Amino acid sequence: MEDCPHLIPDANNNCEDCGAPYPEPEGTPEPDLGNIVEICKLIDRTREMFSKLIEINTDPKNPALPRLRMVGGQMVRLPHKAICQSLIGPSFIKAKNLGYRGTQERWMEMVLEDIATFTSPPVV
Ligand SMILES: [Zn+2]
Repeated sequence: MEDCPHLIPDANNNCEDCGAPYPEPEGTPEPDLGNIVEICKLIDRTREMFSKLIEINTDPKNPALPRLRMVGGQMVRLPHKAICQSLIGPSFIKAKNLGYRGTQERWMEMVLEDIATFTSPPVV
């Protein structure tokens, strides 16, 4: 019975042919791939959120610039990236839980890289 491949478990989770304990399946076949799929979904969701934030932060009179806002008695334009930076944390933690191994900075780049505002040359 040593050569038994233990193909079919019985009701007690022993091999149907030889009665040896049925071997536990060794993890899911490609766990990393599953994570990558989830990580990509997370990137898409975060990117969607940031796109909306950027839209809200855009100056309606000059779409190339962030909108003017009053901060501490001064009119300032908060760069889109600064706003995204302050909100990237929770998605980065989720990404880490999904097995993402990069830095938060790299995570930020991945989220932002398909947003047109960040791929076009900076407006001075
Ligand atoms: Zn067996």
